[in-house]
Amino acid sequence: MLDQIARTGREFDSALASASSAKEVDDLRVRYFGRKAGLIPALFARLKEVPKEQKKAAGDALNKLRDRLEEALRQKTERVAGEEATRKEARETLDVTLPGRKPRLGHLHPVTIVRQQMEDIFREMSYSIDPGPEVETDWYNFEALNFTPDHPARDTQDTFFVDVDQLLLRTHTSNAQIRSMERWKPPVKVFSAGRVYRRDEITMRKSPMFHQAEGFLVDKGIHIGHLRATLEHFIKRVFGEGLQMRMRPSYFPFTEPSAEVDMSCVFCKGAGCGTCSQTGWMEILGCGMIHPQVLRNVGIDPDEWSGFAFGLGLDRVAMIKFDIPNIRTLFENDLRVLQQF
Ligand SMILES: [Zn+2]
Repeated sequence: MLDQIARTGREFDSALASASSAKEVDDLRVRYFGRKAGLIPALFARLKEVPKEQKKAAGDALNKLRDRLEEALRQKTERVAGEEATRKEARETLDVTLPGRKPRLGHLHPVTIVRQQMEDIFREMSYSIDPGPEVETDWYNFEALNFTPDHPARDTQDTFFVDVDQLLLRTHTSNAQIRSMERWKPPVKVFSAGRVYRRDEITMRKSPMFHQAEGFLVDKGIHIGHLRATLEHFIKRVFGEGLQMRMRPSYFPFTEPSAEVDMSCVFCKGAGCGTCSQTGWMEILGCGMIHPQVLRNVGIDPDEWSGFAFGLGLDRVAMIKFDIPNIRTLFENDLRVLQQF
């Protein structure tokens, strides 16, 4: 029994020496003094098996061991706690010699870059900038723009209706034209860019939410030459010098005459490539002279005033400018994409 008491003491000493954390010291306390399987209580329980003549010596030795171990554990607990506090303090101390961390700057979305650039171009030509509302009435989105209630062109702009007061999500930015012409008497010129909505499937080129830009001008004696000169200037500023531009007759309810505008393919400069289907041209916008009925709808006399209007897809311009093949890339909010711009 005395041997065993001595051995338990030695084992404890070496275990305590290698314990370096509060957790390890605590584990040791449980191992030696735990109420269920502690080694010291187990030794006390075995005292009754010890022969009578050895009992006193064994009891004394065991009491001494218990007191020594308890004191050793108490001291070690204190020391470990002190060391851990020192380490924690060291971790939390501010190292003023470390180089500072630069705040990370965000990146503008490619559509935002294109929109701001276009707004700047038209602001320089003293256009007002007014994006117009995205939730609109039928009058401003369709009827005032000469889409009569059963006009077949309405079918080409499959519309999201809001279930309140016969409102809808605008299908184009042209609603801003009507609102601007109502608000300001001519001469007036306004550039509008923003989100528009159509019930389209999501494909490489189409999305139910996309971005349009639109400009119009109403003044005395405005003719198609003014329109063409404005668009040539615009295309040169957005895509650079040396691109040709051509107008093809087209149809929109709110302009007469109407035209589609092509510019030379920015990738092959007109030579023909895969992107332009070997034609050398890219469709870029639609335009025309504002229909006399549209002017009458907002109380402007078409015999006195005339004007032009044009509209284009901002997403498409961003895709061409930054060579992005898929429109979904613009709306997926992938930071790795955005960080390139
Ligand atoms: Zn091409």
